[in-house]
Amino acid sequence: MPDNEMLATNNPIQVQLCPKCNGQGIVSRPPWIAGDVHQWSGGTASSFVCNVCNGARVIYPPQIGVANIVTAPLPEITSLKEENAKLHEQGKESLLLYNSMTAQIAKYRKALEKIAKWEMPVTGKYWPDKEGKPNPERPMSYGVCYGSNGERDFIKSIAEDALNK
Ligand SMILES: [Zn+2]
Repeated sequence: MPDNEMLATNNPIQVQLCPKCNGQGIVSRPPWIAGDVHQWSGGTASSFVCNVCNGARVIYPPQIGVANIVTAPLPEITSLKEENAKLHEQGKESLLLYNSMTAQIAKYRKALEKIAKWEMPVTGKYWPDKEGKPNPERPMSYGVCYGSNGERDFIKSIAEDALNK
């Protein structure tokens, strides 16, 4: 087996015989002269260093490396995409849960603030003045109109609304 073939077959992934000089490292015509030109001037040399392999007889085709890069990492890229999509879904679910909990807490807080203030609704009723007419400067409280049971029921309704709505 010639040296050139040895080189090519012992390491078939990275090395390839030079296609221009066919693994000779030299060519019989100046490499810079076009293939259809049969006469050239300058010198009497009958062999020239191949300008593709620079006399190395072999080349290292870049497309082999490119092919490896393109095919090898594909499964990894796919799994990363899947992982990313999964994380994206989880993120969306977490955000929905967070928004829902935040809204619930805000609702409960509002109810508790109302209860803590014990703020009764305006009754729209007024104590009478000397002439027996409603005095707009003396509004009648909720407790006066509806009693302590009425107040209790109103407060109870605030808590119930917050829990049920
Ligand atoms: Zn060559």
